[in-house]
Amino acid sequence: MKQADDYQELLGRIAADVAPLIGSGTPAEYIPALASVDPRRFGMAIADLDGTVYGVGDWRLPFSAQSITKVFALALALSLDGDALWERVGREPSGNPFNSLVQLEYENGIPRNPFINAGALVVTDRLQTLTGDASSDLLEFLRAESGNPDLAFDQEVADSEGENGDRNAALAHFMASYGNIANPVPILLDHYFWQCSIRASCADLALAARFLARHGLRADGSRLLSRSEAKQVNAVMMTCGTYDAAGEFAYRVGLPGKSGVGGGIVAVVPGRCTLCVWSPGLDRRGNSVAGVAALDRFTTLTGLSVF
Ligand code: GLU
Repeated sequence: MKQADDYQELLGRIAADVAPLIGSGTPAEYIPALASVDPRRFGMAIADLDGTVYGVGDWRLPFSAQSITKVFALALALSLDGDALWERVGREPSGNPFNSLVQLEYENGIPRNPFINAGALVVTDRLQTLTGDASSDLLEFLRAESGNPDLAFDQEVADSEGENGDRNAALAHFMASYGNIANPVPILLDHYFWQCSIRASCADLALAARFLARHGLRADGSRLLSRSEAKQVNAVMMTCGTYDAAGEFAYRVGLPGKSGVGGGIVAVVPGRCTLCVWSPGLDRRGNSVAGVAALDRFTTLTGLSVF
């Protein structure tokens, strides 16, 4: 399964198979800028290791990447910080909602993993310390890997995140009280909200995630992560990447994946390709209904899972 025709035909079949599900679920409502997205959108892209990208539906339409950016922030922080990063954030599933505060107190301000909000705030804090401009650094990275210089922050979404950001502010202040946040909390939150607001299409995100399928190699052939670090990021995606449904996602799809409340999901077939699917209707755990179904169809039809 390699040729363009195969991928195109496969994507067409997947889109037809999941069509009855498009529009089911509910777009995220916690910020107005996300609630107003058309729930009937669906797009899916597959990027080869060499950067050829195939797509179906709304695969070139930018959407709010949201928590998908947590993967890229983690990879950048890990590339600069190495193992030291794991002293500040764990790598176990949390079993709690993505924005939960309770576990943090029991565990002395060390978040369970980099993909719950507390953990992502720690990663962005570390990136801010290491680069001096975490969100711009991340945006530049995504532009370079996707080959799309037009990728941008979404001012409306970033403002909306800030206006509805009490929970994230509480998480950041709470961790700061344990000494696990180094930057001033308002600055950290600005960078985190800018990060979440990045708009990108399925094509952009599938291309940008290729270093995870290429065992750490960036689009230009330089090394971002060691082979072992790329494996670590994929492993954390597999165990913690889809909110409280990572077990169900592993069971159905069998690939490392990271979802966001914008309705996107990025998935990786190490050594083979990357995928991104987008449809805004979310299930009660915050994952795209049609998106999970499409990835489920992909691994079922191709046999390309990590298992
Ligand atoms: N900006 C969101 C928040 O921190 C991220 C939500 C998500 O995609 O999980 O609340």
